[in-house]
Amino acid sequence: MKRRKLVAGNWKMNMAPSEAKSYASKYPRLLKRDMEVNIIIFPQSILLPILIDEFKNSGIKLGSQNCHWELQGAFTGETSPQTLKQLGIEYCLVGHSERRHTFGETNVQTGMKVRTLHQLGMTPIICVGETVGERERGQTEDILRTQIDSALKDADPKKTIIVAYEPVWAIGTGRVATPDIAQKAHAVLREYLKQRGLQNTTILYGGSVKPDNVATLVSCPDIDGFLVGGASLEPEEFANICLLTLNASR
Ligand code: PEP
Repeated sequence: MKRRKLVAGNWKMNMAPSEAKSYASKYPRLLKRDMEVNIIIFPQSILLPILIDEFKNSGIKLGSQNCHWELQGAFTGETSPQTLKQLGIEYCLVGHSERRHTFGETNVQTGMKVRTLHQLGMTPIICVGETVGERERGQTEDILRTQIDSALKDADPKKTIIVAYEPVWAIGTGRVATPDIAQKAHAVLREYLKQRGLQNTTILYGGSVKPDNVATLVSCPDIDGFLVGGASLEPEEFANICLLTLNASR
């Protein structure tokens, strides 16, 4: 089965409502409607209700950057996955490196979020990746396997997952992984997912992706698209990344 390409834009904690609306008004015009690439934008949760209308009929989906593992309750400041579902949101990032390393999200919590998202019929985008120290100590494969094991501990094997390989040292640093490094990590993940019958899982690369490094990365056999942070904030730049991903032969 041919894996469809996917480009996801993580706006992180950026964009005022007016900027987000202006982005949405430009963006669909920058792309052909029938593009063979799926596009998902992850704004701050507070912007989701505004953007649902703005992106309606654009072919672009919206996702949440995070959610709690419980459906609702006394969890001040958290985002309820049930509310996301009621808003019509289908995708949610889990285990993003900024959640893991700045806010202390654990492998166990990532697994609980995947379980809850699957119960709701939503698709988790599971972010995994090693720190520079782990890479230097030769622990990359072990870290990736442990993160996948925990994330899938209570996952529903019949439901979809998406995986994003995001080496921590490449996120927001301008230091993109070489195609060789990225492909090797993706091949490890593909093989590991295959052992679970999940060989057709979409695996994205993330970490300082820009229009000038997309073409070589997307030509790697196990890279199915990108999770883009900084470069997704400029509609022209992000549209360019989407077009380059679509046009790349693989
Ligand atoms: C990200 O936030 O997931 C990311 C990859 O960021 P950047 O593209 O800015 O490195």
